[in-house]
Amino acid sequence: MEKQPRSICIIGAGIAGLTAAALLSKNGYAVTLYEKQPILGGRALSLNGSTLTHEDYKNILTSYKCYLSDSIPDINTIFSNNLLKGYVIDLGYHAIGGGVLSNLNEVLKEFDDHVDILESYVGFIHNSGYSFPFLSRMDKIKILPNILRLLFASEKTLKRLDTVSITETIKRYGKRKMKLILEVFSRSITTVNNLDRISTGEMFRAQRNLYRGSKPVGYPKKGLQVIHEKLSEIIKNQGGSIHLHTPIEKIIIEKGSIKGVQINGQIQYYDIVISSILPQDLFTICDERQFPTDFVQTYKSLTATGSLCGYYSLNHIPEELIGKTFHFLERNCGVDGNDAVGMIDFMAAHPSSQLSPKGTFLVQSYIICTPKEAEDKQMMNNLRKILDRNLSQIIPDYKRSLNWALYPAVWHLDGVAKTIDNQKPSIITPIKNLYVIGDGVKAMGIGFNCALNSARVLSEILQQDKQ
Ligand SMILES: Cc1cc2nc3c(=O)[nH]c(=O)nc-3n(C[C@H](O)[C@H](O)[C@H](O)COP(=O)(O)OP(=O)(O)OC[C@H]3O[C@@H](n4cnc5c(N)ncnc54)[C@H](O)[C@@H]3O)c2cc1C
Repeated sequence: MEKQPRSICIIGAGIAGLTAAALLSKNGYAVTLYEKQPILGGRALSLNGSTLTHEDYKNILTSYKCYLSDSIPDINTIFSNNLLKGYVIDLGYHAIGGGVLSNLNEVLKEFDDHVDILESYVGFIHNSGYSFPFLSRMDKIKILPNILRLLFASEKTLKRLDTVSITETIKRYGKRKMKLILEVFSRSITTVNNLDRISTGEMFRAQRNLYRGSKPVGYPKKGLQVIHEKLSEIIKNQGGSIHLHTPIEKIIIEKGSIKGVQINGQIQYYDIVISSILPQDLFTICDERQFPTDFVQTYKSLTATGSLCGYYSLNHIPEELIGKTFHFLERNCGVDGNDAVGMIDFMAAHPSSQLSPKGTFLVQSYIICTPKEAEDKQMMNNLRKILDRNLSQIIPDYKRSLNWALYPAVWHLDGVAKTIDNQKPSIITPIKNLYVIGDGVKAMGIGFNCALNSARVLSEILQQDKQ
């Protein structure tokens, strides 16, 4: 008799859940994916400004732990005058680490597919304008040996550096430009401003993941939704199924092993359950008494990252900026870590992005903060001024061509901050056949890449178990 494929329930249709569903259905599992929201994509969400209502926008932001901290003009005027018509905007600024040769396209390649990605090197905004790219040829010659040594260090060395903070690494290697590089990139790679919290080992692991032949940052043409549509198509073509608007109420565990899940009051039996919800929320759908106490305590104490984003629609931007991305470093601005890193990004302003109506240019930006700071209105006002000032540093008269601006704040950008004091938990749990994936667990990269890579690692774990 032919053996039945093992049944898998995946909770959450963000990038982690969708990637896991695609890979596992390819590997012969019977996969069912449940998403509590009516839309695919989780936090990596692109919204269609032509159909978006004010009510929907507010609800969507709230569902994903974001809120609109400010806008120009006020948000009622933006919606009553249909100003977002023809635009695609995300919950907040998104850039995917890795460009054309991103982890995402590596996964899609397995299905003979790919996403068209805009990609850019990163420049730097300073008091007298900007440098693009950040590192000149001379800089590279001078500091590359040190960077390469760290980038291509063995895993054993990186493990040793896992508990060494970037503050300590700067003391050791950080002179002049090297200091600036470590200050800026370690923050932007982890979305954490406090250098005492950033692990040197993790930062170089993440950097290494970005150096694979393409430019360091990318964004899909037509928006993030393209990714989810492709992955859901792949899942369905392989016999998997996706149920939107279907929250999992409970994960059923018996004697340390998975039994199934509860949906609409009914138990559905599964061999394996994979949760991609935020680790901090796991015990809202799981009985914590089934887990070791220290495991529960660790999960509940995990902290996330935050940011303030700025979306600007402009009628004009200088030609030489189109398609480029810039970092900035704001000193002494009162955030945790004192200095804050942000980005001003013109990738979405490229006409081939198809993210804004003809003749308009979408500029995306963000500045890093802690989740607590993201919920503080006064802090958001200060950070908003910093975003505006850095934009005016490269386009001094940008306000003359401004159509509108939105400033969404988020206090759950990364599920779990990748820091020395906040170790991401493992994909494997103490419960047999319960796995956790997403940007809150241990996998290469942060944010989008961590979520996607966690699904790849899980797929390998389950393949090994099969053999
Ligand atoms: C404003 C903002 C800006 C960001 N910018 C960047 C960036 O520039 N670069 C980057 O790499 N990353 C960025 N991120 C982070 C990135 O979006 C996330 O790391 C990634 O999308 C996480 O994917 P995930 O699948 O792990 O989790 P999620 O996307 O959160 O997916 C989890 C899903 O589970 C669903 N769910 C929850 N509970 C249940 C339940 N009981 N039953 C069924 N479904 C449930 C949720 O609705 C959600 O859809 C940003 C995030 C935000 C919010």
